[in-house]
Amino acid sequence: MNKNYNSKFSIITKLLLSLFILLSLNITYIALNKSYKIKASEPELYIRPEKVRIDAAKKLLVEGNKRYVDNKTFANDISDTKRKKLSSNGQKPFAVILSCSDSRVPPELVFNQGLGDLFVIRNAGNVVDPIVLGSIEYGVEHLDVPLIVVLGHEKCGAVEATIKDGEASENIASILNKIKPSYNKVKNKNQNIDEVINLTVNVNINNSVAIISQSPVIKKLLDEKKISIIGAKYKMDTGEVIYDFSK
Ligand SMILES: [Zn+2]
Repeated sequence: MNKNYNSKFSIITKLLLSLFILLSLNITYIALNKSYKIKASEPELYIRPEKVRIDAAKKLLVEGNKRYVDNKTFANDISDTKRKKLSSNGQKPFAVILSCSDSRVPPELVFNQGLGDLFVIRNAGNVVDPIVLGSIEYGVEHLDVPLIVVLGHEKCGAVEATIKDGEASENIASILNKIKPSYNKVKNKNQNIDEVINLTVNVNINNSVAIISQSPVIKKLLDEKKISIIGAKYKMDTGEVIYDFSK
């Protein structure tokens, strides 16, 4: 009888002990997991100055791209409060970005900017037509944006299609025809196809910068030193945006 009682007691003790160990492990896991999640989901919130002039605008883009490259991006405020603030106060973007539609080069991500920061125009090959030009003019003239950036990128499909000169629909051909003059400038300078694409990307960026600069609205603001325009190139592997790509 006593032996049976002792045995039952021992089983209950073992069960309770096992339960206690399991519970402790579970609490430790939850605690560790929680602290990890807090750390991972709450990076520093990105806040930029309200008013941004030319030099500060480029600095914000350079700093944002560095955070992106270093994998240390700030979180963007996409809260209800921020949306309502932008809705009632209006937008004050600090840079107009003309970039390629390539899904690997989204300006807000590569420059680590958020809602209300960038006025973005995208098309395949970052080319300029009257609608693009009108959008840029609206950005600098009506929204007082101080900086225009033409952002091209390595391995651009639109540039490659121009060089390969295959079958293209009328609408795609209208894009390729915009890039062709840039290709014509470099096609005899190098035999290596990748290098020809690379050089054409550079010339195409500079060509878009030149066309935009010739708009009377933009030329006036450039002459008055109220705005600035720069070309930039995205490096596909590293995520870097470089500004001295032509050298
Ligand atoms: Zn592209």
